[in-house]
Amino acid sequence: MGSVDFPMVILSREVAVRMEKWGSTWGWLDLKVDDAEGLAIVVAFSNKEKVKLPVATAWIKSHYLWPADARENAAVWYRVDPELHLLHEALFHRQLGVATSEVQKAVLGGWRSPPVDRSIPVVTLSGGGEDARWSCWWVSREGASPGLVHLVDDDADLLEFLRPAWPLGDLEDATVTMVGVGSIGSAAAEVLASYGIGRLCLVDPQRLLQRNVVRHRLESSQIGRHKVTAMRDRLVPRYPRLELEIYPLDVIRDADVMRPLFERSDIVLGATDGVGTRRVLNHLSRRAAVPLVLACVLEDGALGEVLRIRPGYGCLICNREALVEEGSLDPEPDLDLGYGTGTRHLPMTAASGDLAFIGTLAAKAVVATLLEQKGHWAQRLPGEHGLVALRPVPDLRSPFDLEETGGVRWNPPWSSRSGCPSCSPA
Ligand SMILES: [Zn+2]
Repeated sequence: MGSVDFPMVILSREVAVRMEKWGSTWGWLDLKVDDAEGLAIVVAFSNKEKVKLPVATAWIKSHYLWPADARENAAVWYRVDPELHLLHEALFHRQLGVATSEVQKAVLGGWRSPPVDRSIPVVTLSGGGEDARWSCWWVSREGASPGLVHLVDDDADLLEFLRPAWPLGDLEDATVTMVGVGSIGSAAAEVLASYGIGRLCLVDPQRLLQRNVVRHRLESSQIGRHKVTAMRDRLVPRYPRLELEIYPLDVIRDADVMRPLFERSDIVLGATDGVGTRRVLNHLSRRAAVPLVLACVLEDGALGEVLRIRPGYGCLICNREALVEEGSLDPEPDLDLGYGTGTRHLPMTAASGDLAFIGTLAAKAVVATLLEQKGHWAQRLPGEHGLVALRPVPDLRSPFDLEETGGVRWNPPWSSRSGCPSCSPA
């Protein structure tokens, strides 16, 4: 045991509650142990010498120690005088141990003498219900040192830990459709789930290939699967309340499936490269009257762009035409070259961290848009056209002339142009 670290025993809260209700004074525990980590999980427990009950909750079966061999009767639990927990606290803060007799005299019944040659974990309980207290000790014949008990709820919803500070209630009904689950999109999907979006619809026809993995949130173990199914299997266990719909479809070819999907979405996030796909997203979201956020990297990964297209303002095409008219560049055609596909034997220039950064910013723009609609005015974005310098290059024309890495520039909204096929009424 290290000087500033304490070994830990993990106990399922369901099991803890059951043991409290027994009113018994002691029992055995079977453990699975990682000695190097100083960690043990309780996998079976008994009331005195009665039959051992297994612990097999979904969480514990997912734990990395679950495949280890169980050590039978590796620990004991005791009901103790509450005073022992005060002593535990005092010793814990000062990193001190005590004589084993101090623990023994607080035990209310069934004391088993520890083995002669080593320490064993001893888990102690006092009180019950709201007042139940748990702690643990590493006990040998000579002495007892305090350790940690961590009670784990099997069905805990991790997002609930955010609730006092984050408006989960205004996001849990929201539907976000995300098109493109590549390098930027996979990062954005994780971030959206972690913000507590209620329903996420993932659209991407592609499978994960080996060359994608360096820039993707998915692991090599998922190579060959559709990106949407593998992302679903990654996100749902972590966010069990997330409703996740998957569409291994192509936005252009399957536009008739996309139209109703966009109509029941609160916002669409497009994280695809390809001029055609972006134009179709622009058009379909206009027709469905839903806001669209488009994310990509430009100029071989020099810049990231997050473009928000809301009803009432100009669209993607209007933005690009206005830029050309102002003497800037139209970055769209470069997008067809692809930055992560490797199919055109181009150097893959955008690094995964930069792509994840843009995915995170795009997800933030989506969530900010939804929250602003719900009256969270402080979530208003500074503009509609965000540019981020990832690896600035000289001589780009305004507004792309960002010079310092990490700089974010938000440009104001632009208007619809007359004759724009997407902005004109159908
Ligand atoms: Zn337009």
